[in-house]
Amino acid sequence: MIKNHATDMPIDPSMTHSPCVLCQEMTRLTHSPTDTLVLWEDSRVRIVQVKDPLFPGFCRVIWRTHCREMTDLNIEEQRYFMNIVFTSEHVLRTLLCPEKINLASLGNQVPHLHWHVIARFAWDSHFPHPIWAQAQRDTPTRQLIDVQQRLIALPAAIRQACSQFS
Ligand SMILES: [Zn+2]
Repeated sequence: MIKNHATDMPIDPSMTHSPCVLCQEMTRLTHSPTDTLVLWEDSRVRIVQVKDPLFPGFCRVIWRTHCREMTDLNIEEQRYFMNIVFTSEHVLRTLLCPEKINLASLGNQVPHLHWHVIARFAWDSHFPHPIWAQAQRDTPTRQLIDVQQRLIALPAAIRQACSQFS
């Protein structure tokens, strides 16, 4: 069995030649620079932290296999997936005390179901609009650094919270 050296997860050899960017990330056999950090994964779901300089409390929960819509998953899979989304939300709320959590599932560009879990703050550059909308203001450095400091605990907190699923 081929395993991803970085995460020790088994990988499907047929996916290593996939043109899909998320499959390529999930089957990468060596560490390399990327805009995401893997926080936790199992055979069905991966949680990554998105390294966005403006929105530091930003995670993405990704269904590992290609699947178009939530209703293409069976009921158990839907519940499992959403439990992990809600667990990610809970961890971000606990660590960062944000003004709001934005949950978004768009998925128009990659064939993987995925949920964006984004901590939002009244001071962030786009609040109260979506992070993909027009910026409203500059990001205040002091608050940004404060959130970045608190996020040092994120990988361990996610792993701890997700240990119930393993
Ligand atoms: Zn893929």
